[in-house]
Formats: sequence, structure tokens, C-alpha cells
Amino acid sequence: MPPPIKKCVICGKEFKVKSNNQKLCGSEECKHEWKITYDKSRYLENVELIEKQCVVCGKSFTTSDTRRKYCGSGKCDNKPRMKFKVKVVIR
Ligand SMILES: [Zn+2]
Ligand SMILES: [Zn+2]
Repeated sequence: MPPPIKKCVICGKEFKVKSNNQKLCGSEECKHEWKITYDKSRYLENVELIEKQCVVCGKSFTTSDTRRKYCGSGKCDNKPRMKFKVKVVIR
């Protein structure tokens, strides 16, 4: 299997993923940019863990990622966003 490809959340460049939660292409600029973003949104508020509700199964879970929508049980995490949108439209 070829290594999975992700897009860097900062510059949008594609890179080969080495670790599961890697979000950045690895360039120093992107790391710096990411740190600034996170300093603002996360560390300044001193948020360690927030309680959220999974948009798929409705279970509540704690996470430090404010943008996270899924509880983290494999199934829910893997639901593509597109599919979820379609579901909502149909309802
Ligand atoms: Zn980048
Ligand atoms: Zn869930």
C-alpha cells in the first residue's frame, strides 16, 4: 500500500503521512503558522479538554480539538463529511 497522502492544513501542499495525526507538510513555516493559530484558539483559552457530542452517534466525548465532530470510535471518525451532508439534505 502506498503511504496515504494528506494536504497540509496551512499551505495546502500534499505530503506523505508519516504519523496518523500529522496535519502539516513539515516545513518550518507551516509549523510556525500552525503554532500561532493554535496559540490563539486553544492555548490562550487554556482549554485542555472540552466535552462535545459526536455528530454521528450522539455520544458525548472529550477532546482538545475544538473542530472535532466525532467521538473517535473508528466508525464515526471515518464518516466522510460529504455523506453526512447528503444525509441532512434528505431529512
Ligand atoms: Zn505546509
Ligand atoms: Zn460517534
